[in-house]
Amino acid sequence: MEDKNRMLRALPSVDQVLRNDCITHLEREYGHGIILDAIREELQSIRKRVLDGCADEVDFSDGKIIEAVRSRLDAMNAANLREVINGTGVVIHTNLGRAPLAGHISESALGLSARYINLEYDLGNGMRGSRHDIVRNLLCRVTGAEDGIVVNNNAAAVLLVLTSLAEGRDVIISRGQLVEIGGSFRVPEVMEQGGARLVEVGTTNKTYIRDYEKAIGEGTALLLKVHTSNYRIFGFTRDVTLEELVELGKKHGLPVVEDLGSGVLIDLSKYGLCYEPTVQQSVEAGADVVTFSGDKLLGGPQAGIIVGKREYIRKIAKHPLARAVRIDKLTLAALEGTLREYLDPDRAVQRIPVLRMLTADIGELERKADTLRQMLSGLQDYSSISVEKDYSQVGGGSLPLEEIETRVVSILPYHISVNKMEQNLRSGETPVVGRISRDRFIIDVRTVFDDQIHTLAMAIQHALTGGADNG
Ligand SMILES: *Cc1c(COP(=O)(O)O)cnc(C)c1O
Repeated sequence: MEDKNRMLRALPSVDQVLRNDCITHLEREYGHGIILDAIREELQSIRKRVLDGCADEVDFSDGKIIEAVRSRLDAMNAANLREVINGTGVVIHTNLGRAPLAGHISESALGLSARYINLEYDLGNGMRGSRHDIVRNLLCRVTGAEDGIVVNNNAAAVLLVLTSLAEGRDVIISRGQLVEIGGSFRVPEVMEQGGARLVEVGTTNKTYIRDYEKAIGEGTALLLKVHTSNYRIFGFTRDVTLEELVELGKKHGLPVVEDLGSGVLIDLSKYGLCYEPTVQQSVEAGADVVTFSGDKLLGGPQAGIIVGKREYIRKIAKHPLARAVRIDKLTLAALEGTLREYLDPDRAVQRIPVLRMLTADIGELERKADTLRQMLSGLQDYSSISVEKDYSQVGGGSLPLEEIETRVVSILPYHISVNKMEQNLRSGETPVVGRISRDRFIIDVRTVFDDQIHTLAMAIQHALTGGADNG
């Protein structure tokens, strides 16, 4: 106890630390309040260690306390949200922020966000405008729909559509479409939240149009079709087409709503990928309302896009919930930029990162992988490195069966375990995420931006050599 008291007495006061030259220096950079917090927290933590009997001798003169305060300040000021190198080959990686925006689009959106803008101001007549007008015409042009609005994300879009068109009434949906989509978006729960009553028809593997027809009654508000983005049922299956549903809807005067999930605007089979129905096709087939995400295959910011017949879009936009799920100005700016690229689909494929990555040709990937391998050629003593054939995934619950041939750089570390290597890469200055396969660390170059290759090579070098004893 005596020892502890002596050590506690040796602790400097907050003021003493504050008067230290190094700390005074930091004040300009960080501000007084946060420095005070850091000093108090550090002294508190030393005091606790002393009382727990696990502190070294306290000596204020050796600079350790100052150093510790400095580290605390650095930690407090380090951004939590950081750039990550995606070496997984999963193009729409939900945990890594889904679609990366095109550089020119994000720059222009950020620029606008730092100024006043005509977000809800009609420059034509000097009166109040609507933020929905910013992308309405573009949405109509690229999807072929009569009208459209955008909200915070597709989950919000579905919720808003069901609430505004079916609250307190029945929504008919095929049992095979009652799915959960990554990040706990469960169709039945969303419907419940929207105050709609769920009427399930058919069975898990087979649903016929007559199943829907039998379920239609007084309380029916709409017919819902959900794109089962992230799974497929094979074999003995039957699903009702959108065309059949539209015909049934017309016969009974009921709107047909389709949640497309990913919402692709370009037929990607032209570029060698699996065929996926486009938004334009749903609109053309007569769906009254179609919803989809902004940050999946569209390649834009997080958003929920709702397009369809004017009478329904008007009703949806007027519902009070629309205000709660409205899109913000930064997102709207980025979405406008992204949608504008689609005015020329070939240009969109070139300029929207998600589409460019998905359609990258194998020669380009081979060259990128080889560039990385060559940059790592000095690491022979630490690892065996090779370029191999593998498969990338689309991700984000889109095109679940698609396996796209790619090239990966495969690294077998000699002196550290592959798990240690993975951990080193993850905790580096620019974190790298890849995957482990057969004791090798695998980096799929499809999802690595060209201007990240150098940083990636440095990170790998650091992970292999910095982590080993024989440096
Ligand atoms: C991804 C998805 C959603 C949810 O969209 P978010 O933009 O993530 O909110 C809803 N429905 C389907 C079919 C989806 O694939």
